[in-house]
Amino acid sequence: MSGKGILVYAETRESEIHPISFELLGKAREIAEKLGLEVWSVILGSGISDKASQLIHYGADRVYAYDDERLRDLNVVAYKSVLVDFVKETKPEIFLIGATPWGRSLAPRIAAALDTGLTADCIDLQVSEDGKLIQIRPAFTGNILAHIETTSKPIMTTIRYRVMKMPEPDPSRRGEVIVRRPERVEADGVKFLGKVSERGVNLADAEIIVAGGKGLKKKEDLRILEELAGLLGGVVGVSRPLVEEGWISKDHQVGFSGNTVKPRIYIACGISGSPQHLAGMRDSGIIIAVNTDPSAPIFRHADYGVVADLYEFIPRLISFLKEVKGHGKGVVKGA
Ligand SMILES: Cc1cc2nc3c(=O)[nH]c(=O)nc-3n(C[C@H](O)[C@H](O)[C@H](O)COP(=O)(O)OP(=O)(O)OC[C@H]3O[C@@H](n4cnc5c(N)ncnc54)[C@H](O)[C@@H]3O)c2cc1C
Repeated sequence: MSGKGILVYAETRESEIHPISFELLGKAREIAEKLGLEVWSVILGSGISDKASQLIHYGADRVYAYDDERLRDLNVVAYKSVLVDFVKETKPEIFLIGATPWGRSLAPRIAAALDTGLTADCIDLQVSEDGKLIQIRPAFTGNILAHIETTSKPIMTTIRYRVMKMPEPDPSRRGEVIVRRPERVEADGVKFLGKVSERGVNLADAEIIVAGGKGLKKKEDLRILEELAGLLGGVVGVSRPLVEEGWISKDHQVGFSGNTVKPRIYIACGISGSPQHLAGMRDSGIIIAVNTDPSAPIFRHADYGVVADLYEFIPRLISFLKEVKGHGKGVVKGA
């Protein structure tokens, strides 16, 4: 193996490459230029070799594709064993993994097996003037941004989804694809019987989110937000207290310890705007806040602020939208 590399794990979802892999490649490219490294990517699965060229279009110089029937299902023990062997052989300087639920499960296992450190949930990577990788992540519940330098090798980092810029693919980019079969696939002793249910909601990719907080009085009132989200073609998000109350699953939680989201429109209803909540949604396109308290911090981040009781405002907005849709009108003047 010649040269030194920065390695990006290409996560797959139902045999398709997860978009976070492309975001990581864009960042890896930027760092590689500064540090004089190559960009490598590794992808695992069954029947995935033909996906490798996509990774080259997004910035990889070399792609290793472990295409093997034994890697058909996402099995964390099997994947860990293949990736650990691969890293020991290729010795990348830096190893990037997406901080998706899957990446968060995989990365610490790999780091422990390699006896190296792991900086989890980063929101940016920079290169210092003296050529060191600086990993940036929220600390103290999002109140400060810690700048972390790691001395162990490889430098391992997980990066949140949708915090890095998606690069433009370049179909004319050329690179090397190396198809491999793993020598060893560790078994975990678990027999996979079949998929029971999918995650109920994909907040990270949602274009419109109607989010509720403690301004809601009871669990059943989430229905009002569900109705509004349905009319707008969006999904429901929540602040953490609602998850802690057991009103809704953690898949819906927005914030520091939940999902980072970047929808076109984020409607925050009865949410005060704590630093931990803002950490997950402040990069949304248009933020609309509905709150009875004009001094609520969320208004400092909102593009449109509505000082109102959500129990009055949201039903009126729903009736208005139904009327507009019923009449097939695109624009209503004087509303
Ligand atoms: C380690 C750690 C991690 C955390 N992670 C997260 C996280 O990921 N996500 C998260 O959200 N929080 C997180 N938190 C919790 C966070 O600190 C706040 O407690 C939480 O965000 C507050 O939720 P809220 O805005 O819904 O509630 P509150 O702060 O109680 O705000 C409720 C708001 O509703 C308004 N209101 C009341 N009635 C109405 C009404 N009828 N109509 C309109 N407005 C009304 C009030 O004026 C108020 O502004 C975390 C905390 C810690 C310590």
